[in-house]
Amino acid sequence: MSLIIQNFENIKSLANNSNIKIIAVSKTFSYAHIKPLVDYGHNHFGENKVQEAQAKWAEIKKTKPLIKLHMIGKLQSNKAKEAVKLFDYIHSVDNQKLASLLSKHENNISKKLSYFIQVNIGNEYQKSGIDIKNLDEFFYYCTKELKLNIIGLMAIPPNDGKENFYFKNLMELNKLLGLKELSMGMSGDFKEALKYQTTFIRVGSSIFGKRT
Ligand SMILES: *Cc1c(COP(=O)(O)O)cnc(C)c1O
Repeated sequence: MSLIIQNFENIKSLANNSNIKIIAVSKTFSYAHIKPLVDYGHNHFGENKVQEAQAKWAEIKKTKPLIKLHMIGKLQSNKAKEAVKLFDYIHSVDNQKLASLLSKHENNISKKLSYFIQVNIGNEYQKSGIDIKNLDEFFYYCTKELKLNIIGLMAIPPNDGKENFYFKNLMELNKLLGLKELSMGMSGDFKEALKYQTTFIRVGSSIFGKRT
Protein backbone atom coordinates (compact mmCIF):
# COMPACT_ATOMS: atom_id res chain seq x y z
CA MET A 1 0.00 0.00 0.00
CA SER A 2 1.38 3.44 -0.86
CA LEU A 3 2.21 5.85 1.93
CA ILE A 4 -0.54 8.21 0.74
CA ILE A 5 -3.15 5.47 1.14
CA GLN A 6 -1.77 4.55 4.56
CA ASN A 7 -1.95 8.18 5.67
CA PHE A 8 -5.47 8.46 4.34
CA GLU A 9 -6.64 5.26 6.07
CA ASN A 10 -5.06 6.46 9.30
CA ILE A 11 -7.04 9.72 9.19
CA LYS A 12 -10.18 7.84 8.23
CA SER A 13 -9.86 5.63 11.30
CA LEU A 14 -9.48 8.70 13.52
CA ALA A 15 -12.50 10.34 11.90
CA ASN A 16 -14.41 7.23 12.82
CA ASN A 17 -17.86 8.40 11.76
CA SER A 18 -19.61 7.95 8.45
CA ASN A 19 -20.91 11.54 8.56
CA ILE A 20 -17.42 12.95 8.26
CA LYS A 21 -16.04 13.59 4.83
CA ILE A 22 -12.30 13.94 4.31
CA ILE A 23 -11.34 16.56 1.75
CA ALA A 24 -7.91 15.56 0.52
CA VAL A 25 -6.27 18.94 -0.07
CA SER A 26 -4.20 18.48 -3.21
CA LYS A 27 -3.07 22.09 -3.76
CA THR A 28 0.52 22.38 -5.02
CA PHE A 29 0.74 18.63 -5.71
CA SER A 30 0.81 17.25 -9.25
CA TYR A 31 -1.88 14.89 -10.46
CA ALA A 32 0.70 12.12 -10.62
CA HIS A 33 1.31 12.55 -6.89
CA ILE A 34 -2.35 12.42 -5.87
CA LYS A 35 -3.44 9.79 -8.40
CA PRO A 36 -3.01 6.84 -6.01
CA LEU A 37 -5.81 8.27 -3.85
CA VAL A 38 -8.03 8.85 -6.89
CA ASP A 39 -7.41 5.27 -8.02
CA TYR A 40 -8.18 4.11 -4.48
CA GLY A 41 -11.68 5.51 -5.00
CA HIS A 42 -11.56 8.66 -2.92
CA ASN A 43 -13.76 11.40 -4.38
CA HIS A 44 -13.37 14.63 -2.36
CA PHE A 45 -10.41 16.86 -3.23
CA GLY A 46 -9.60 20.44 -2.24
CA GLU A 47 -7.78 23.19 -4.12
CA ASN A 48 -7.16 26.85 -3.30
CA LYS A 49 -6.46 28.37 -6.72
CA VAL A 50 -8.87 28.32 -9.65
CA GLN A 51 -6.25 28.16 -12.40
CA GLU A 52 -4.23 25.42 -10.77
CA ALA A 53 -7.40 23.43 -10.15
CA GLN A 54 -8.54 23.82 -13.76
CA ALA A 55 -5.24 22.60 -15.13
CA LYS A 56 -5.19 19.62 -12.78
CA TRP A 57 -8.83 18.54 -12.71
CA ALA A 58 -10.94 19.79 -15.62
CA GLU A 59 -10.13 16.84 -17.90
CA ILE A 60 -10.06 14.26 -15.10
CA LYS A 61 -13.51 15.32 -13.95
CA LYS A 62 -14.98 14.61 -17.39
CA THR A 63 -14.01 10.96 -17.12
CA LYS A 64 -14.61 10.62 -13.35
CA PRO A 65 -17.96 12.24 -12.62
CA LEU A 66 -17.97 11.07 -8.99
CA ILE A 67 -15.10 13.37 -8.10
CA LYS A 68 -16.18 16.37 -6.03
CA LEU A 69 -13.94 19.42 -6.07
CA HIS A 70 -13.83 21.84 -3.16
CA MET A 71 -12.60 25.43 -3.50
CA ILE A 72 -11.13 26.17 -0.07
CA GLY A 73 -9.05 29.29 -0.74
CA LYS A 74 -9.78 32.98 -1.13
CA LEU A 75 -11.89 33.45 -4.26
CA GLN A 76 -11.49 36.68 -6.24
CA SER A 77 -14.67 37.96 -7.89
CA ASN A 78 -13.12 37.84 -11.34
CA LYS A 79 -12.62 34.08 -10.93
CA ALA A 80 -16.18 33.39 -9.81
CA LYS A 81 -17.41 32.32 -13.24
CA GLU A 82 -14.66 29.74 -13.77
CA ALA A 83 -15.02 28.54 -10.19
CA VAL A 84 -18.72 27.86 -10.63
CA LYS A 85 -17.99 25.81 -13.75
CA LEU A 86 -15.33 23.63 -12.14
CA PHE A 87 -16.13 23.22 -8.45
CA ASP A 88 -18.90 21.40 -6.60
CA TYR A 89 -18.36 23.10 -3.23
CA ILE A 90 -17.02 26.54 -2.36
CA HIS A 91 -15.92 27.01 1.26
CA SER A 92 -14.87 30.63 1.10
CA VAL A 93 -17.99 32.72 0.49
CA ASP A 94 -17.31 35.84 2.53
CA ASN A 95 -18.66 38.97 0.84
CA GLN A 96 -21.78 40.21 -0.94
CA LYS A 97 -20.16 40.95 -4.27
CA LEU A 98 -18.75 37.44 -4.53
CA ALA A 99 -22.01 35.86 -3.37
CA SER A 100 -24.07 37.72 -5.95
CA LEU A 101 -21.67 36.77 -8.75
CA LEU A 102 -21.76 33.11 -7.72
CA SER A 103 -25.53 33.22 -7.84
CA LYS A 104 -25.53 34.87 -11.26
CA HIS A 105 -23.08 32.39 -12.77
CA GLU A 106 -24.91 29.40 -11.30
CA ASN A 107 -28.14 30.59 -12.85
CA ASN A 108 -26.46 31.18 -16.20
CA ILE A 109 -25.37 27.56 -16.49
CA SER A 110 -28.17 25.98 -14.43
CA LYS A 111 -25.80 24.43 -11.93
CA LYS A 112 -26.29 24.31 -8.16
CA LEU A 113 -23.17 24.27 -6.00
CA SER A 114 -22.99 23.77 -2.25
CA TYR A 115 -21.49 26.60 -0.26
CA PHE A 116 -19.96 27.36 3.10
CA ILE A 117 -19.81 30.85 4.54
CA GLN A 118 -16.29 31.51 5.79
CA VAL A 119 -16.32 33.13 9.23
CA ASN A 120 -13.44 35.17 10.65
CA ILE A 121 -13.84 33.24 13.87
CA GLY A 122 -10.88 34.78 15.70
CA ASN A 123 -11.73 38.30 14.55
CA GLU A 124 -8.26 38.60 13.04
CA TYR A 125 -7.40 41.73 11.12
CA GLN A 126 -5.55 39.91 8.32
CA LYS A 127 -7.87 36.91 7.85
CA SER A 128 -10.63 36.35 5.32
CA GLY A 129 -14.12 35.60 6.46
CA ILE A 130 -17.24 37.44 7.46
CA ASP A 131 -17.27 39.06 10.91
CA ILE A 132 -19.43 37.24 13.44
CA LYS A 133 -21.51 40.36 13.99
CA ASN A 134 -22.46 40.46 10.29
CA LEU A 135 -23.10 36.74 9.91
CA ASP A 136 -26.89 36.72 10.35
CA GLU A 137 -27.43 39.45 7.79
CA PHE A 138 -25.01 37.89 5.30
CA PHE A 139 -26.60 34.46 5.71
CA TYR A 140 -30.03 35.96 5.07
CA TYR A 141 -28.75 37.75 1.97
CA CYS A 142 -27.17 34.57 0.54
CA THR A 143 -30.11 32.28 1.21
CA LYS A 144 -33.18 34.48 0.81
CA GLU A 145 -32.10 36.99 -1.81
CA LEU A 146 -29.66 34.94 -3.84
CA LYS A 147 -31.02 31.44 -3.15
CA LEU A 148 -27.52 30.07 -2.68
CA ASN A 149 -27.41 26.59 -1.21
CA ILE A 150 -25.52 27.43 1.98
CA ILE A 151 -24.85 24.14 3.76
CA GLY A 152 -22.64 25.28 6.63
CA LEU A 153 -19.95 27.51 8.08
CA MET A 154 -16.20 27.27 7.56
CA ALA A 155 -13.33 28.75 9.51
CA ILE A 156 -9.58 28.68 9.94
CA PRO A 157 -8.98 29.44 13.62
CA PRO A 158 -6.11 31.60 14.85
CA ASN A 159 -2.90 29.79 15.61
CA ASP A 160 -2.95 30.57 19.31
CA GLY A 161 -3.52 27.17 20.88
CA LYS A 162 -7.22 27.79 21.55
CA GLU A 163 -8.68 25.77 18.65
CA ASN A 164 -11.20 24.12 20.99
CA PHE A 165 -12.71 27.48 21.86
CA TYR A 166 -13.03 28.57 18.22
CA PHE A 167 -14.38 25.23 17.00
CA LYS A 168 -17.02 25.21 19.71
CA ASN A 169 -18.01 28.76 18.83
CA LEU A 170 -18.33 27.91 15.13
CA MET A 171 -20.37 24.81 15.96
CA GLU A 172 -22.77 26.94 18.00
CA LEU A 173 -23.11 29.60 15.30
CA ASN A 174 -23.81 26.81 12.80
CA LYS A 175 -26.57 25.43 15.01
CA LEU A 176 -28.16 28.85 15.51
CA LEU A 177 -28.50 29.14 11.73
CA GLY A 178 -29.90 25.60 11.50
CA LEU A 179 -27.07 24.41 9.25
CA LYS A 180 -26.14 20.75 8.92
CA GLU A 181 -22.57 20.75 7.64
CA LEU A 182 -19.44 22.24 9.16
CA SER A 183 -16.05 22.74 7.49
CA MET A 184 -13.34 22.82 10.12
CA GLY A 185 -10.14 20.97 10.88
CA MET A 186 -6.84 20.73 8.97
CA SER A 187 -3.80 18.48 9.41
CA GLY A 188 -2.74 20.27 12.59
CA ASP A 189 -6.10 20.49 14.31
CA PHE A 190 -8.66 18.09 12.82
CA LYS A 191 -8.59 15.91 15.95
CA GLU A 192 -9.90 18.88 17.94
CA ALA A 193 -12.45 19.74 15.25
CA LEU A 194 -13.82 16.19 15.44
CA LYS A 195 -14.91 16.88 19.04
CA TYR A 196 -17.20 19.68 17.80
CA GLN A 197 -19.29 17.93 15.17
CA THR A 198 -17.33 18.92 12.11
CA THR A 199 -18.56 17.13 8.97
CA PHE A 200 -15.86 18.13 6.46
CA ILE A 201 -12.20 18.07 7.45
CA ARG A 202 -9.69 19.59 5.02
CA VAL A 203 -6.46 17.60 5.23
CA GLY A 204 -3.48 18.10 2.94
CA SER A 205 0.02 17.55 4.29
CA SER A 206 -0.94 14.67 6.59
CA ILE A 207 -2.04 12.75 3.50
CA PHE A 208 0.23 13.92 0.68
CA GLY A 209 3.32 14.98 2.62
CA LYS A 210 4.97 18.34 3.07
CA ARG A 211 4.33 21.03 0.46
CA THR A 212 7.42 22.72 -0.92
C1 LIG B 1 -3.99 24.25 2.68
C2 LIG B 1 -5.29 24.29 3.37
C3 LIG B 1 -5.73 23.19 4.14
C4 LIG B 1 -4.91 21.95 4.35
O1 LIG B 1 -3.81 22.23 5.15
P1 LIG B 1 -2.88 21.08 5.75
O2 LIG B 1 -2.25 21.72 6.92
O3 LIG B 1 -1.93 20.71 4.67
O4 LIG B 1 -3.77 19.95 6.12
C5 LIG B 1 -6.98 23.28 4.73
N1 LIG B 1 -7.76 24.38 4.59
C6 LIG B 1 -7.37 25.45 3.88
C7 LIG B 1 -8.29 26.62 3.77
C8 LIG B 1 -6.13 25.44 3.25
O5 LIG B 1 -5.74 26.51 2.55
